[in-house]
Amino acid sequence: MVAATLSPALISRFAEITGPAYALVDDKDIAPYLVESRGLYHGISPLVLRPGSVEEVSAILALATETGTAIVPQGGNTGHVGGSVPREGMADVVLSLSRLNRIRDVDPVGNVIVADGGAVLAEIQKAAEGVDRLFPLSLGSEGSCQIGGNLSTNAGGTAVLAYGNMRQLCLGLEVVLPTGEVWNGLRRLKKDNTGYDLRDLFIGAEGSLGVITGAVLKLFPRPLGHEVAFAGLKSVEDALALFERASSRCGTALTGFELMPRLGVDFTTRHIPGVRDPLATRHDWYVLIDISTSDAAETASRMMEALLAEGVEAGLVENAVIASSEEQRKALWHMRESMSPAQKPEGGSIKHDVSVPVSAIPAFMAEADAAVMAAMPGARICSFGHMGDGNIHYNISQPVGADKQAFLDRWREINHLVHGVVLKYNGSISAEHGIGQLKRDELAAVRAPIEMDLMRRIKGAFDPAGIMNPGKVVAV
Ligand code: FAD
Repeated sequence: MVAATLSPALISRFAEITGPAYALVDDKDIAPYLVESRGLYHGISPLVLRPGSVEEVSAILALATETGTAIVPQGGNTGHVGGSVPREGMADVVLSLSRLNRIRDVDPVGNVIVADGGAVLAEIQKAAEGVDRLFPLSLGSEGSCQIGGNLSTNAGGTAVLAYGNMRQLCLGLEVVLPTGEVWNGLRRLKKDNTGYDLRDLFIGAEGSLGVITGAVLKLFPRPLGHEVAFAGLKSVEDALALFERASSRCGTALTGFELMPRLGVDFTTRHIPGVRDPLATRHDWYVLIDISTSDAAETASRMMEALLAEGVEAGLVENAVIASSEEQRKALWHMRESMSPAQKPEGGSIKHDVSVPVSAIPAFMAEADAAVMAAMPGARICSFGHMGDGNIHYNISQPVGADKQAFLDRWREINHLVHGVVLKYNGSISAEHGIGQLKRDELAAVRAPIEMDLMRRIKGAFDPAGIMNPGKVVAV
């Protein structure tokens, strides 16, 4: 059992480890660490610790296990499922990784970068660029999310199609265990078949098994050719048919294939400054196609032109534009990344981050739409996302003029409806954001009892005192 309150004496013991300047106790200093990025979760905490070394993290966790103090690891606090904030009504201590932000090594020969767990994603990308390499993870939150948070959520983002998610981008980890022991698994090996894969247990564990303090990440050649196109289509079925052609024509050069609805384009042009629809014609659906090649720019450009010509000829593409400069490429991606924020001014939004097999996307969306509209006439469905990964952010904006709170009060009911359709298509209720607090109870309902049992046993083996991010992912 973890302690429900913290005594001043215990706070002092923790503060001795970091030094008082890095042990925050004033409400106004602590406030920014308590609210999750979408404002869905507001926790409380008597103490925020900002350790400056792996040794300090180790001493903090050893003391936490000794005293049964709950610890919430926090990276950039950009997560979407309430995993990075303390619980309401408890005395969870927040452990911020923000001072552990060094790039330890960049090796363009071995194609790896080694960084602290608190290094900001954009800094990793910059360091890779500095040696003419690419670190391909790219998210709308890259200016503040941290590599430890990306690993702990197994983040996806915009280039999963070509490069995979964080699990595929990581070779080794350094982790401080709840007992304070340090596991140095900072290996740089592509091939290593020596027993159970401990690294993969920590990736996606959302801070429930230990604190990631360092990582070895893969680097790639920087693409020389890059093309981004925006195409209008009449249906999700046509988008899928175009995706099939894009995959076979472009292979691994196809870096992104993103789906957007008319409603989402209207929301972004209405609410996000500077966003404009680059097509003069209106369409029911849109796709953003991103192609990058390791050889000359002309290859990417020829590939994109041929794909779109083929799409037009097959009657799949109604109209399309290819960005002609880096600025235009960024503008198209900006529109795609603004889909979610653009829903905010439209009132309440009930969100889903789901995946289904790619070929099932049209059937899933038709069935989910029918179920939602029957339950909530007037709902404005704005489903968009990483179509090439089978990952749809199936978001629903409130009916025009509806009461926002009454709409949001139906969050769980609507989640249940949509997730029911997801499961019918053998999909996942969390494609890239994780479980946290938001989906913890649902996880137990969608995973087989044996899977839940194995997860609880793993949690118990790593964290016998139950101090690591309790109440998140799995309830023990
Ligand atoms: P936090 O939010 O601080 O923490 C997330 C979880 O990881 C928590 O459970 C926390 O306890 C744990 N954790 C954090 N650091 C550590 C550590 N060092 N050791 C152990 N546990 C730790 N996500 C995607 O996958 N794809 C997207 O395209 C995407 N786009 C986004 C766009 C925007 C504008 C925003 C705001 C968010 C987006 N996200 C996306 C969600 C979010 O950015 C990711 O989940 C990100 O990986 C979280 O990183 P973070 O450092 O902010 O982690």
